[in-house]
Amino acid sequence: MKTARFITIKGLVQGVGFRPFIFLLASKSGIHGWVRNTNEGVEIFAEAGKEAISTFIHHIRKKNPPASIIEELNSIPAIPLNIGSFTIMDSENRSDEITSISPDIAVCDDCLKDMEVHPRRRFYPFVNCTNCGPRFSIIRDLPYDRSKTSMDPFPMCEGCRTEYRDINDRRFHAQPVACIHCGPFYELIVLNQRWSGDTEKILTLLNDLLNAGKIIAVKGIGGFHLACDAFNVHAVRALRTRKKRDGKPFALMFRDIETLSAYAKVSRQERAVLTSWRRPIVILDMKQKAKKDHALSYINSGLGSIGAFLPYMPIHYLLFRYFNGPAIVLTSGNMSAEPIIKDDEEAIDRFQGLADAFLIYNREIVHRTDDSVVRIIGNKESIIRRSRGYTPAPVRLSVDVNNIIAFGADVSSGFCVGKGNKAFPGMYIGDLKNLATQTFFEEALEDFIRMFRVQPGLLACDLHPGYFSTRFAEKYALQPLVRIQHHHAHIASCMAEHGIDEKVIGVAFDGTGYGSDGKIWGGEFLLCDLADYKRLLHFEYIPLPGGDKAVEEPWRTAIAYLYRVFGRKFIDIPLPFLAHLDREQVLSILNMTDRKINCPEVSSAGRIFDAVAAIMNLCLWSTFQAEAPMRLESLICSSCEDLYSYKIDKTIIVDEMIREIVLDILNSTGIPLIATKFHNTIISIIFESVIRISKKEKIRKVVLSGGVFQNKYVVEKTTILLKKSGLLVFSHQQVPANDGGIALGQMIVAAKRRSMKCV
Ligand code: ZN
Ligand code: ZN
Ligand code: FE
Repeated sequence: MKTARFITIKGLVQGVGFRPFIFLLASKSGIHGWVRNTNEGVEIFAEAGKEAISTFIHHIRKKNPPASIIEELNSIPAIPLNIGSFTIMDSENRSDEITSISPDIAVCDDCLKDMEVHPRRRFYPFVNCTNCGPRFSIIRDLPYDRSKTSMDPFPMCEGCRTEYRDINDRRFHAQPVACIHCGPFYELIVLNQRWSGDTEKILTLLNDLLNAGKIIAVKGIGGFHLACDAFNVHAVRALRTRKKRDGKPFALMFRDIETLSAYAKVSRQERAVLTSWRRPIVILDMKQKAKKDHALSYINSGLGSIGAFLPYMPIHYLLFRYFNGPAIVLTSGNMSAEPIIKDDEEAIDRFQGLADAFLIYNREIVHRTDDSVVRIIGNKESIIRRSRGYTPAPVRLSVDVNNIIAFGADVSSGFCVGKGNKAFPGMYIGDLKNLATQTFFEEALEDFIRMFRVQPGLLACDLHPGYFSTRFAEKYALQPLVRIQHHHAHIASCMAEHGIDEKVIGVAFDGTGYGSDGKIWGGEFLLCDLADYKRLLHFEYIPLPGGDKAVEEPWRTAIAYLYRVFGRKFIDIPLPFLAHLDREQVLSILNMTDRKINCPEVSSAGRIFDAVAAIMNLCLWSTFQAEAPMRLESLICSSCEDLYSYKIDKTIIVDEMIREIVLDILNSTGIPLIATKFHNTIISIIFESVIRISKKEKIRKVVLSGGVFQNKYVVEKTTILLKKSGLLVFSHQQVPANDGGIALGQMIVAAKRRSMKCV
């Protein structure tokens, strides 16, 4: 007997080959009816025998396409209409509900094969199919149809149209479908010469340029990259100088996973992430041999880790077919601290004198995305920079965040827009310290509000009165605005990820965040739930000479601690780092401290890392964000269990630790040993404090957030220790532990307060 069901599916189901998958499945299982995209997801009307339909639904759940995510599948009985076939119907745009937009997907194996053999796609670097290709970066609006993407100016040729319409073809309804005859093409510009379309010629020239140590601006998926031969020290040095980038490590694209494995330790999990369709940059520990490589130590500034990734665009694969080296530097194409450049004219204009050649193509990048950066911590993927391959996938929450806009922080800024119970974090934007990033922030936010059909109802921002992000929030003056304390937002962001809605012990360790007492916080133990928090314990305040200046000059914090511990006589201690400082300047800083001029009080854990790194002579002037803690971390030798002394009273006092570190340095204790003992001390402080609070407050859930918890050693060891004591420990996976995750926290705090009618 014929029965029918009406099935609705929500999740990441558009632009990932979902309708063709349903169509083929229906045809195979003898199901009649139809499937269509709506802005809420996918709808299916299915008629067949009862059993056939339930097998059909079972297979939808089990065999869905690789890049799709089914978040919700509902089916209700319907009246059979005796439809004689199964069809794909036109998209319906009915309400303000939206479905998820797929992030960009790395080229699939089938398409790579097509580049070898397909008559219309041999050497064609814009090959794609329903399972792979650009998505978010080319989508202007929903629903996802070619006319609403930057493929719109490329009418399909007969061949592509036939594939697009053929249900048995891998390109059935693949919106960006293209071939040599109808799609976009690359163009290489060297000085005044241009080569268009002839891919083999362009690749030969590119190879020559790379081998000659030239720097090439390469248009990628979400913006430009700057590329050069990774093992040509002269080329890398030129790139550093021309990009005005002192020491920040460059990302490396390796030709394949085997080649990469010769340089870095790659665990099973790291391998899985490296080869996943998201293809992020993964931070990997280097092999001993590679650490001694001159070129590599120039790329990663002598750290023990590298940021590596694998080819993900067809052009990357083609490039490595011609170029014989193991890896290329592929770094974001931006001028220092500005957003990644995405438009051809701007790239050609701004990279004049920086790039020796330009590899561009004639399709517009709609949304700017940088490469994402992840690290495997505690056997889990933990995001450091969330952009290409992840944006705009939502974080599903247990709380209704509809129409809430969160503005994030200023460093590693990022916003978040709320729709139903989904939070859509924006792409990585960068530090809001120049007009270009500020403009990017405002435009991207407007775009998200429009695309996801959000009507801003409630706004959330940081408590810091001087943040640009706060000022942006204040511009939307008509809506109520809640200001949320920085470290509460950190903890809440991690709670949001894990669906926690109860009282927890929050450990928020970072560099800086504005405290409710007007001082700078950053080493905080909070008792908090989603709505509110209580500050239970923190590091002892120290005066930070020069305030913000100390962030870039760790030696200042070192002086502050040494002065506190030893008084003025520290100047005569024969610490090697002091020899690099101007004695007059040091003395004037001590006077500043005495007179409390420009010395804000801070309780930051991040600054303690800075101070220790400087005292150890590892990093006096920071040439990139978090350099000091990264240098310290890269020295850890895991076999050492020793630690330094400290005191936990009303506040946490590390004077004894500083004294003992100085002694260790004077006794010529090995630098790796000191670095390890320091880390062990921080871990012990967290452990002891949490256990105390847990006993007193009778709470077993511990949430770790803030930039310090990007440190693999600290997170892994702290987690193991606390778990052994029967506590439940939560750290970040979906959004960064750094300030890039703050907006999600602000959003959920605002939502919780709204639900309690507190705003
Ligand atoms: Zn494909
Ligand atoms: Zn075509
Ligand atoms: Fe922070």
